[in-house]
Amino acid sequence: MNMKSPNAKSQPKTAVSSGKKSGNSPENTLKIIPLGGLGEIGKNTMAICYGDDIMLVDAGLAFPTEEMLGVDLVLPDLSFLIENQTKVRGLAITHGHEDHIGGIPFILKEITIPTIYGPALALGLLEGKLREWGLEERTSLCKVRPRQQVKIGCFTVQFIRCTHSIADSFSLIIRTPVGTLIHTGDFKFDFTPVDGELFDIASISAAAEEGILLLMSDSTNTEREGYTPSERTVWRKLNEVFANARQRIVVTTFASNVHRIRQVLQAAMKYDRKVAILGRSMMNLANIARELGYMTFPDGLLLSVDQINQLPPDRVVILTTGSQGEPLSALTRIANDEHKQLKIFPGDTVIISATPIPGNERSVANTINALFLRGADVIYGKEAGVHVSGHACREEQKLMINICRPKFFMPIHGEYRMLVSHTELAAECGVPPENSFIMENGDVLELTADSGGVTGRVKAGVILIDSSRAWQVNEQIIQERRHLAEDGLVTVALTLATQRSKIVALDVSLKGLILPSSLSSEELVTRIKAELSKILLDRTAVSKLNKDDLQSFLQGCLNGFFSSRIRALPFIQVIVHEVAGEEQAKKTKNARPSASIPKSGPS
Ligand SMILES: [Zn+2]
Repeated sequence: MNMKSPNAKSQPKTAVSSGKKSGNSPENTLKIIPLGGLGEIGKNTMAICYGDDIMLVDAGLAFPTEEMLGVDLVLPDLSFLIENQTKVRGLAITHGHEDHIGGIPFILKEITIPTIYGPALALGLLEGKLREWGLEERTSLCKVRPRQQVKIGCFTVQFIRCTHSIADSFSLIIRTPVGTLIHTGDFKFDFTPVDGELFDIASISAAAEEGILLLMSDSTNTEREGYTPSERTVWRKLNEVFANARQRIVVTTFASNVHRIRQVLQAAMKYDRKVAILGRSMMNLANIARELGYMTFPDGLLLSVDQINQLPPDRVVILTTGSQGEPLSALTRIANDEHKQLKIFPGDTVIISATPIPGNERSVANTINALFLRGADVIYGKEAGVHVSGHACREEQKLMINICRPKFFMPIHGEYRMLVSHTELAAECGVPPENSFIMENGDVLELTADSGGVTGRVKAGVILIDSSRAWQVNEQIIQERRHLAEDGLVTVALTLATQRSKIVALDVSLKGLILPSSLSSEELVTRIKAELSKILLDRTAVSKLNKDDLQSFLQGCLNGFFSSRIRALPFIQVIVHEVAGEEQAKKTKNARPSASIPKSGPS
C-alpha cells in the first residue's frame, strides 16, 4: 500500500518541523506533538521527542464521517514519523481500543518500531493483526504489569492501572530529562470496577509529590457534569431485564467492551441461557480475553447460530455487534429481516448497551425503529441504565487535575470545544490559563523545566483507507464522489474535425441530473451542441491548445453554461476525439450517431 500522504490538511507554518532543530529551539527542550486525537474523537497518536529520541503513546485509527464515501478507516498522516524514523525508540500503548492501537499495523508497514510496550490484552489483540498483515518482524511486543517501568530512549515510562471500558487499561507516568508527564489514556474513576482492578491513584499521587510538569488528560466527556456511573450499575439493570424476559434476548454493545461482554455472559449463566456471538471482532475479543484470563466461562456456554436456533427462546442470548447501526452489521440485518439465520419475533427483548457515537444517531434510530416494528421490546437510551460511559465526566476530570496539580495542562482526546471546556475546568482547579495549551494535531508544544509554548507545526492530516482492499483513498476522490452523489454526472464525448472547426459527432450522457420540468433531455443536448459550436468558432481560444487543455477548457465552459443557464452544477467530463481528415471524419460520423442520447437517458 502506498502510504505517502499528499492529502494533509495543513502544512508546517514555522521553521520548527519534523523534529529538526530550529534557531530558537535548543536541544534540551521536550517536544510534545499530537499527530491524532486532538480536535476529534479517534486516531489517538502522540509523539514525545527529546534530543534524538522519539517515543509514541498509542497509535490509533478513526472511523469515517458520513461524507467520506467509500472510506472505512482514517489514519493520521505519517510523514513526521517517516521523516524521523531512525529516532523512534518505542511505543507505549495505554489500552486495546481501536482508536489507540488500530493504526499500528499501518505505521509498521512504513517504519520499524523497536519495541511496543503495552497491556497483555491490547498486545493480544495487536498480535493477531500483525500476524494477519505479516508484520511480526517489524517490532517486538513487550507485556507490562501494573507499576512496571520501562526505558524508551531517554524516557522512563511507568504503567499505572486505570479504569475504563476495556479491561487492562493504563495511564502513563513518563519521566523525561525535563520533568514528569502524566498521560491519562482514556479513563474514568470507577471505584467498584467489575474486574476488581482499582485505579492506582496512589502511584499518580506519589508522582505528583515529585511535581508534574504536564498533565495530558482525556476530554471525551468534558461536556457532562458530575460523575460517570460505575460499570457495576449496568449489572443491576441487566439482571432485571434477564429476570423478566420470556423469550430471546439480543444484546448489542461495542465489540471491545470487555466488561460489558463479561457481564452479559454472567447474566446468561445466571439465568441458564446459552449465547451465540455474532460479529468476528466481538468473537475474537471474547476468545482472547478468555485466553488471557480477563473473563471466565464454561466451554458449553457459547453456541453457533445453528445450535442456538434449536433451543427454546427463553434459553437464548444473542450477543452481537451493530450497536452503531452499521448497515452491514448483524443487528441491522436482523432488524431489517435480512439476516439469513436469525429473525426477530414479537416478544423478543433487544438491549442496546451502547450510546451512538456522534454522527451515528440516525442509523441507530433506524435500527431501533425497525426492531420495534417487528414486535421486539427494545431497551435503549441514557435512562434505561443498560450502558455507562468509559470516560470521566467533569467532576472526575477535576479530581485528576487535583491529584496531579500539574504546572502545565494539555487536554487531549476530544473535539475542539471539548478541549476548550476542559481547559476552563483546569483553570477552575488552579492551572493558570496561560499554562494550558489547546493544541491541534501537528502543533509542537515545547517545554523546559519552567517554560512552555506552542512553537511550530509538523505536517499533520489524514490518510483515508478503503480497508476492503487496503488501499489509500485520495481526498480529491472523496470530493469527486460527493460531487457525483449530490449533483450528477454529464459526460460529453466530442469528435472534432482536424482544424477543430466543426463537431463531427457528439454523445452526451446524463446520469443523476435533475432538470427543470420545462427542459427535456433532448432539448438539453441540442443546447449543449449549440454552446460547444459557438465556443469552437473562437479559433484563437481553441486552436493552440493541446488535447488535455482543450478538454479542461471545454469542461470549464460547460460548467459556466450549466450554472448560468440550467442552474445546475453537475460533474462534467469532456472527452475529445480528433479525426485526421474529411474522409476519416465521414467514417467516424457514420459510426457515431450525432447528438444522440444513450438509451439509459437521464436518471
Ligand atoms: Zn478507550
